[in-house]
Amino acid sequence: MKFPTTMDALVKTEAAKGLTLTKVPVPIPGIGEVLIKIHKTAICGTDVHIYNWDAWSQQKIVTPRVIGHEYVGEIAALGPGVVDYKIGQIVSGEGHIVCHHCRNCRAGNGHWCKETKGVGVERDGAFAQYLCIPETNVIPIPDGMDEEVVSFFDAYGNATHTAAMFDVTGEDVLITGAGPIGIMAVGIARQNGARRIVITDVNQYRLDLAKKMGADAAVNLSQETVEDAMKRLNIVEGFDVGMEMSGNGTALNQLLKLMRNGGNVALLGIAGPGTVIDWNDVIFKGLTLQGIYGRKMFETWYKMMAMVEAGLDLTPVITHRFHYTEFEKGFEAMNSGKSGKVILDWTER
Ligand SMILES: [Zn+2]
Ligand SMILES: [Zn+2]
Repeated sequence: MKFPTTMDALVKTEAAKGLTLTKVPVPIPGIGEVLIKIHKTAICGTDVHIYNWDAWSQQKIVTPRVIGHEYVGEIAALGPGVVDYKIGQIVSGEGHIVCHHCRNCRAGNGHWCKETKGVGVERDGAFAQYLCIPETNVIPIPDGMDEEVVSFFDAYGNATHTAAMFDVTGEDVLITGAGPIGIMAVGIARQNGARRIVITDVNQYRLDLAKKMGADAAVNLSQETVEDAMKRLNIVEGFDVGMEMSGNGTALNQLLKLMRNGGNVALLGIAGPGTVIDWNDVIFKGLTLQGIYGRKMFETWYKMMAMVEAGLDLTPVITHRFHYTEFEKGFEAMNSGKSGKVILDWTER
């Protein structure tokens, strides 16, 4: 296969708001690396932070940087020594490049690697016509899987890692925060046999998407209380499993108050600086709290694909589709709050 030497990419070119669609060199895969021709990408909340150039991204991003880490594409070239992949094979990839030799990596807990580097954050990412990653990060995609859905498997992986952390079968589940990951967590908990699923937010657009994914109650906290929903759904002792997906301190505290004694809480939302909780909710209720980062490498990926094959439909979470040349519209949709997953198409026009 012949490659151009340059490609289109969405680049954070300078320390300021926005992104630039520009030409950059096509990466050349080194030993043990593969080159992926990108078909579709999805915009993550992380990308919006970088686009908006908030305090977190100012600390984290060194310019110039090609951003993006949610994608599907095909193998376009193999670096020296790569034998397990074929040109043309449809793939996605784990977005954390880990060291493979720290204690956690060697124990099979790569998601806790102390040297982890994020694709599209600490190294060049997927909002480009080509992406180069180590072969160990490649995720082969089964034939016939909807590429639009695969394009946001990275985010679906966060949802799966969180929703599968504790047994939800027959349990009452509270999810705080109806972003795309919270919305997907609703579908996962439903698929896995939860009794009742309640999700909270103040964004009605996203709560409506959560309903489509199977929430029993999508509570708009500006209009209704969770307690009312609990009464309606006959949830008597509190929630068995909590999933914090908003990063909002008030939501986290409310979640802890609404848990039953002995309940389990998975924490994905990135808490703001100085977030305070009432520790006595944890202590006297005997709650278990588990922080969630990334996806389990690679057990989460296995379960994600298996659940889709078993019929989990993630398409309701897709709300916008644009060509990459119209990326500004995509970020506008994400910043408006009236979106689920926004997909960018990278095929040539
Ligand atoms: Zn993401
Ligand atoms: Zn490591």
